[in-house]
Amino acid sequence: MTTTGYVFHPEYLWHDTGTSAGLLPANPTAGIQPAVHVENPEAKRRVHELIHASGLLGELMVIEPRRATVAELTRVHTDAYVQHIKTQSELRGGGGGGDAGDGFSPVGHGSYDIARLAAGGLIELVTAAVHGDITNGYALVRPPGHHATADQGMGFCLFNNIAVAARHVQAELGLARIAVVDWDAHHGNGTQAIFDDDPSVLTISLHQANCFPPDSGWTHENGTGNGAGYALNVPLPPGSGHAAYLHAMDQVVLPALDRFAPDLILLANGFDAGVFDPLARQMLTAASYRHMTRLLVGAADRLCHGRLIAAHEGGYSPFYTPYCALAFLEELACTTTHVTDPLAAVVAGYAAEPLTPQQQAVIGEAAQLLPRIQTAVPSA
Ligand SMILES: [Zn+2]
Repeated sequence: MTTTGYVFHPEYLWHDTGTSAGLLPANPTAGIQPAVHVENPEAKRRVHELIHASGLLGELMVIEPRRATVAELTRVHTDAYVQHIKTQSELRGGGGGGDAGDGFSPVGHGSYDIARLAAGGLIELVTAAVHGDITNGYALVRPPGHHATADQGMGFCLFNNIAVAARHVQAELGLARIAVVDWDAHHGNGTQAIFDDDPSVLTISLHQANCFPPDSGWTHENGTGNGAGYALNVPLPPGSGHAAYLHAMDQVVLPALDRFAPDLILLANGFDAGVFDPLARQMLTAASYRHMTRLLVGAADRLCHGRLIAAHEGGYSPFYTPYCALAFLEELACTTTHVTDPLAAVVAGYAAEPLTPQQQAVIGEAAQLLPRIQTAVPSA
């Protein structure tokens, strides 16, 4: 019997990224017209609404988020960075008036408290999983987290929600080995950097090669110091879809998890590798996400009592992200609803694209690094 936890809060939609032109701060004198920021609430609102309207919400255990404390955040982030987000968040210059550090990560008025609620939502979810109240779960949080490093926000991310949760689990809940799988279309650079020299946290990122951040997430980035071998990257060529991602799951992600034998699997769950996403050029469909989720749920069942906890990251197509998210969550909860992907017939041709030699080569390159992960036995 699977119990799936679900974290959501209206405040997640109130994180105000302002009137940027897509992803650029508006700058009329430079000819950059104000518009809606690409990381706005709409896709997330529609995901939540579909979870509700499909009837799936009634089958989930709703977990209330709380705000992460400064002490919890500074297990991962520097004091100065946490203070920086607080200060930026106090600016009253209108939505997205502040910035987390890279010039592309807006901080709205009050975003500090909302970002703490996102990190704290994930903490509550992993806590419920470790206590056995839920088997697995999904935190539909905003702002996202996987690009944020210890001392800098990046790529719309303020606090690294997954890293904060992983450190909380290790410090407070007694689990030792954490695996982070990141299938967001962009490299999980922040999470990788935070755990780079730490063999107790295995990071695996599948992403579009050389997309964001630029020149980041190559296979040779394989962990440093004691963590050598414990960061895996699969930089897939643009245009990669169902066949490539499934092959990467089969050849890299699952065997890496089997070797590492985590006590908990965290998932940086981006839906921006979906075929209609504006911020990447990958070709996954809702069916792809369903299939990948099934594989990951299987690994969690096999290795760590089903403990698979996902945090929402990217996914910027308001009209397609909800179907990918619903397929993911149905699979997590071992159920289906009456809602099916209304674009399934349209995207079936994309999903039929065969594996290319280039995709196979990069996946093979990553798979060659697997022996660097010491084989462990799953703990009882
Ligand atoms: Zn992304």
